[in-house]
Amino acid sequence: MKAAVFHGPEDVRFEEIDPPALAPGDVLLRVRACGICGSDLHTYRHGLFQQLGNPIEQGRVLGHEFSGEVVQTGGPIEGIELGNRVTSIGMGANAEYVVIPKARIDTILPIGDNISFSEAATTEPLATSLHAANLGQAQDEEVHLIMGAGIIGLGILQCIKARSKAKVIVADLSEKRLAKATELGADSVINVRAQNIVKDLGGSSAFSEETLLDITTGSVDTVYDCAGMSKNFEGISVLEQALAIVKDQGRVVVVAVFEQSPKIDYNLIVRKGIQLLGSWAWSIEEFKEAASLIRTGAINRKPLISHTFTLEQASEAYETQLRAEEAIKVVFTP
Ligand SMILES: [Zn+2]
Repeated sequence: MKAAVFHGPEDVRFEEIDPPALAPGDVLLRVRACGICGSDLHTYRHGLFQQLGNPIEQGRVLGHEFSGEVVQTGGPIEGIELGNRVTSIGMGANAEYVVIPKARIDTILPIGDNISFSEAATTEPLATSLHAANLGQAQDEEVHLIMGAGIIGLGILQCIKARSKAKVIVADLSEKRLAKATELGADSVINVRAQNIVKDLGGSSAFSEETLLDITTGSVDTVYDCAGMSKNFEGISVLEQALAIVKDQGRVVVVAVFEQSPKIDYNLIVRKGIQLLGSWAWSIEEFKEAASLIRTGAINRKPLISHTFTLEQASEAYETQLRAEEAIKVVFTP
């Protein structure tokens, strides 16, 4: 079968490999769409998170955000029929076929008739956003700030807007991404290249003996760090800015991955009573809820799909997803 195979940093190749073997109770999907995830990019650039791929003889097949059609089952399986259009949880889907093992059968979920395979392939990242939004606990009267308007940040915006009347501000460097945030219902957007976001949102970053009793508090109830810190980043990290901006007793939800560790002013966390919450992946219930939000049309993922590529264009696809200014979600349509 056709596949995009990861061989090492910045080396993903289109290849013909053996199709996966099917054990009793397993389900074989013909992959129709598979997104490139931020974690796949960390693998692509620096070799991180390689365990998220399926090992093959030479290299690994990445890709865990997918949808497809059921083409074979290891014996009859209740509720699953050939031709079903579904999404699921698994790995190695940058390929023509992927196996859903017997243990994961309950995560094979139908996609709506009027939902495209590409939209359904964004279920997994939406589940990641939903988990972060659940930690952020948006209430109607609150203000939430999302820093980083990639697919995860924009998904958090969609989750908050689908379930509350909270006001949402989105910050990013890219005008294209900010325009997308506005299209998806952001109440306001901030281009951090043009504006001093910490100052404009009433935050405080300087902490000293003198400010101990007189620290100014920001106006934001919850801040989501969807940017992290890349290997070559210099300057004040998004996490430091988030801690400065958030209100006393506010929440900072960190859903990004850090390629280096920012210097944190821990006194700021203590003095402001900040809840600092790490957000990693999702629960099975959140994955199912994400699938249902897409299937029922409560959340529209179509605007987030910025590019589609064939497996033959594997390295071009990865290079495109790296260009954060222009790409939101790059999807393979094998
Ligand atoms: Zn992912």
